[in-house]
Amino acid sequence: LFIDWFDFKIILGKNGVPVAENFRMEQSTIADTIQVGQVRVRTLYLSVDPYMRCRMNEDTGSDYLLPWQLSEVADGGGIGVVEESKQDNLAKGDFVTSFNWPWQTVAILDGSLLQKLDPQLVSGRLSYYLGAAGITGLTALLGIKEKGHVAVGANQTMVVSGAAGACGSLAGQIGRLEGCSRVVGIAGTDEKCSILVQEMGFDAAINYKKGNVAKQLRELCPGGVDVYFDNVGGDISDAVISQMNQNSHIILCGQISQYNKDVPYPPPLPPDMEKIQKERNITRERFLVLNYMDKQETSVLQLCQWIQEGKLKVRETVVEGLANIGAAFQSMMNGGNIGKQIVSVSK
Ligand code: NAP
Repeated sequence: LFIDWFDFKIILGKNGVPVAENFRMEQSTIADTIQVGQVRVRTLYLSVDPYMRCRMNEDTGSDYLLPWQLSEVADGGGIGVVEESKQDNLAKGDFVTSFNWPWQTVAILDGSLLQKLDPQLVSGRLSYYLGAAGITGLTALLGIKEKGHVAVGANQTMVVSGAAGACGSLAGQIGRLEGCSRVVGIAGTDEKCSILVQEMGFDAAINYKKGNVAKQLRELCPGGVDVYFDNVGGDISDAVISQMNQNSHIILCGQISQYNKDVPYPPPLPPDMEKIQKERNITRERFLVLNYMDKQETSVLQLCQWIQEGKLKVRETVVEGLANIGAAFQSMMNGGNIGKQIVSVSK
């Protein structure tokens, strides 16, 4: 049997900036029959995410992430359609997803490890299950609910870094839906900032690559910062933390500015920031969405409802073709995306 399909094999990088050339594509074959419990799937969408940078190191820095192996097929979040099934609850034509979808156009997978998807909940926009109705949406919603201490009527100001990305763009909107009275984003281009304000309902946005972030924050958050949804860490976060109020809260979502550096996660704050954090009693607890998967079902329903009601605006940046997945990953790590970066593999 010859099938015209491809898979990716990774060439492991050391510390440094990941590039598309860290990946190579190879043509291969899969078995022509499937076993009981297996399904043959065609891949529709793949996700590229910042955590994958950690999987490119032999020591991923966290116990829940396994490193990608040199010359093995890479994997991550994916969605596909069942083409043949020998798994009881799955039939041809079903849409399914997994956190460990191989970067292949066609694959034979263990059916028991797949989650069935309802296309109606996302009005047929299946790729949303990798973003706003998937892990990124859950991260934004549960991060705010579990660590944000946001309350209706409390007149809180929220600042979001990495604000025009997948998690950040949702976090600002959800902060508002949950009760924040002022939401300010920090992102890397003027275009992103204008989308945040004009499309996503942020009150203001700061382009961190232009001008002084601390000064702009002072002007835009006159009452100080009560909740900080932190996607990036580093200097941007230091500027925000310096303006946080007494008894305020950091949602420690991610630290992308530090992922190409050999530092522990979460990276410790510089001493002057640690002093502020202690003196002002600012919470900064580690948040990992995977620890809250018991809340997945109800939270996804909530996210889908907000999307359908138009209360949650969703943006995606879609790259076509498995051959471009390495470039899509590189681009996302460098800010090339607005909203969720998706790779469309087949229609
Ligand atoms: P994303 O925000 O869609 O994409 C990454 C963005 O990071 C880029 O678009 C870029 O936007 C920004 N960026 C890159 N380098 C930067 C730097 N040095 N300084 C400031 N910004 C930089 O990715 P995502 O999937 O939504 O992930 C966002 C964060 O959430 C990541 O830190 C990720 O690890 C974390 N996360 C955590 C969990 C959890 O369970 N805690 C789950 C999912 C994701 P600009 O143009 O603005 O620079």
